[in-house]
Amino acid sequence: MTASRISRRTALQITASGLAAAPWWRPALGAQGEPLPERAIGRPFPQGASLPEEPPAKPGGESVGVAIIGLGGYALGQMMPAFSTAKNIHIAGLVSGNQEKAQRVARAYGVPEDAIYGYDNFADIASDDRIEAVYIILPSGLHADWAEKAFAAGKHVLCEKPMALNSAECERMIAAGRRADRKLMIGYRCHFEPYNLRAMGLMREDVLGRLRTIRTAHTYRLGPTTPAENWRVNRALAGGGPLEDYGIYGLQAALYLSGEMPEAISAINDTPPNDPRFSQIFAHTASQLRFPSGAVAQLSTSYDAASENRVSVRGELGTLVMDPATSYRGNVMTLDTEEGSETLEPGDSTVQFSRQLEHFAQAIRQGTDVKTPGEMGLRDVRLMEAIYRSAAEGRTVRLAPDGTMRG
Ligand code: NAD
Repeated sequence: MTASRISRRTALQITASGLAAAPWWRPALGAQGEPLPERAIGRPFPQGASLPEEPPAKPGGESVGVAIIGLGGYALGQMMPAFSTAKNIHIAGLVSGNQEKAQRVARAYGVPEDAIYGYDNFADIASDDRIEAVYIILPSGLHADWAEKAFAAGKHVLCEKPMALNSAECERMIAAGRRADRKLMIGYRCHFEPYNLRAMGLMREDVLGRLRTIRTAHTYRLGPTTPAENWRVNRALAGGGPLEDYGIYGLQAALYLSGEMPEAISAINDTPPNDPRFSQIFAHTASQLRFPSGAVAQLSTSYDAASENRVSVRGELGTLVMDPATSYRGNVMTLDTEEGSETLEPGDSTVQFSRQLEHFAQAIRQGTDVKTPGEMGLRDVRLMEAIYRSAAEGRTVRLAPDGTMRG
């Protein structure tokens, strides 16, 4: 098992904390308690997350100050540590509903106590000049509201994927960013990851000849849990299930490797009965995308299948396989063409986190466009809506070039 898979699983255990020994068919203690609310609330310090031993060095004058909204597994496990290797951006504030956790994190990261905000006094951040931007790392169903609140406070927004749970929310976020004249970037880290960047380059150079198929698999097995304790299986906070959370990497890869938008989508979902994990969400989603060039992408994602993180691309003249393809670290890439087979090593995958942050800061300082804007997030959410529509109606859905459904 790769380290990246372990860390993903760790992140899941955080939200399913204490459940390892629970019988599969019986909800664990607490699972029947209060449902997770559809608003931001404080949560315990994530299991397995660690804090830096030393606070990071003081930022330079030009560095962009960011407040982190949501101190969960991805924030504490991956993104916050990456600020220490990013040159032009630093953590200047924290927003959390758990003040004890926030104070502990603030001490470790050298964030002043008066730069800790709660969800209830967030609006006060507007007058805090130390904070120019926010990074929203909350459950996906809360992204839209918090992006709007951040724009209302005059801050730039970096928002985790999926951008939101439906296209109307995405459109609201884009409109709010335009009104505030602030940047909106989606945390699509693979656009900053050396293996995926190399794959994009190889496809642009037509190394495989005419593209025929792209197959992606993003699967793992979610531990026993319920919608009352884990937002990932709670429809209001997560949407339809693994597609928004993990399958989105396959969807993204199909688009950035083909360089095309699909013109038709067909899909199926599956959900096992009597499984508390899947009382509100789908367990598996498989979809097929046809591109105008005639190439086809087959995407599968699951919360109930052994771990796989793979992208394979087949052209008329060769094959490119990435396995793992979109991990936090340790991606592997093999290129097979008429000239032979080659393992490519374009760089250290872990730079993706700090490069994503640096790009966001640079766009703010230089007034340039971001590579992964809200419009890209909206496009992907539209395609996921088409996937769900196709599965629900049992038919192929045809698409306009912007991803909206025809008819
Ligand atoms: P998590 O459960 O570990 O953390 C979520 C945090 O949100 C909690 O710790 C809590 O502080 C806060 N929160 C506020 N209101 C909440 C509520 N009502 N219910 C639950 N938590 C609430 O989740 P995570 O894995 O850190 O995911 C957060 C976001 O980051 C999601 O949008 C997810 O898709 C995204 N993510 C992205 C990547 C990536 O590789 N880009 C990886 C993991 C997660």
